[in-house]
Amino acid sequence: MMQVFMPLNFLGFVYREMKGAMTNIENMFGLLQVRPKVADPDGAAELQVTKGEIEFRDVRFAYSETREIVRGASFRVPSRQKVAIVGSSGAGKSTLFKLLFRFYDVSGGEICIDGQRIDRVSQTSLRRQIGVVPQDTVLFNTSIFENVRYGRIDASDDEVWEAIRLAYLAEFIAELPDKENTRVGERGLKLSGGEKQRVSIARALLKQPPIMVFDEATSSLDSHSEKVILQAIRDISHHQTTLVIAHRLSTIMDADRIVVLDRGRVAEEGSHSELLALGGLYAHLWEVQQQEREDAPGVP
Ligand code: ADP
Ligand code: MG
Repeated sequence: MMQVFMPLNFLGFVYREMKGAMTNIENMFGLLQVRPKVADPDGAAELQVTKGEIEFRDVRFAYSETREIVRGASFRVPSRQKVAIVGSSGAGKSTLFKLLFRFYDVSGGEICIDGQRIDRVSQTSLRRQIGVVPQDTVLFNTSIFENVRYGRIDASDDEVWEAIRLAYLAEFIAELPDKENTRVGERGLKLSGGEKQRVSIARALLKQPPIMVFDEATSSLDSHSEKVILQAIRDISHHQTTLVIAHRLSTIMDADRIVVLDRGRVAEEGSHSELLALGGLYAHLWEVQQQEREDAPGVP
């Protein structure tokens, strides 16, 4: 009897774990519960990441038939480079990330990683290779230490500590009542947005995926937390292909390439100085934000 029940129980456990993980990933993106099914093709291959190069080719997408949100977007994220996507609110930036993670299938064009179409490989293998630092990190009802370890559950204590240090979380943990054993999450200590984001960065550092995606939400953070987080992002992006959503342009000036998205299309593309010299949409956004900074002294 045991032999029959054990595997079944185990399968139930695995299923609940996977379902939980998926729900959390969906929460990360603020996805609605209802979305069309994305299916693995029969005999889907595993995604083989060698360089970590991402390419969007003439990508089109609509949540509903009445309005196309992504309208022929093309851009490339070369291996180990850092590319920022900027643009006004509603331009479709977060939608591009959801498409890269394959929460939805494109309606036209294609997205490739190292030459493999993401809809031809298994979703598990795709998501295993991409680390996400979302706007709002989900914490589990356990210690802060175990929350970091969630990035790679078989990591050693030393490895977890290293990630904590690199994410500038060590000082924060040293001041907690029970240090690394302090319980966080719904039934524990409530962390601020910036602290949660650092937990998320530590998880990503531990996972060390070849591709990192940041939905940067530093606009709600104080300037110290913002600096700390930006430095952590820079530390990561030396080794990995990095895609960053940015609202404040001052935070992505150092990107290798900046893609300016306007109503679902790439309007401009280049480095910060190239885009300023172009005198177009980016230069305009930059000017507006510079003005806001002058009007609000003390804001970085
Ligand atoms: P950004 O991140 O650039 O602010 P988004 O990609 O979040 O823009 O959204 C682009 C457009 O798509 C917006 O008009 C938004 O209302 C719409 N949108 C986003 N998510 C959904 C969804 N799940 N269902 C329907 N429309 C959506
Ligand atoms: Mg967004």
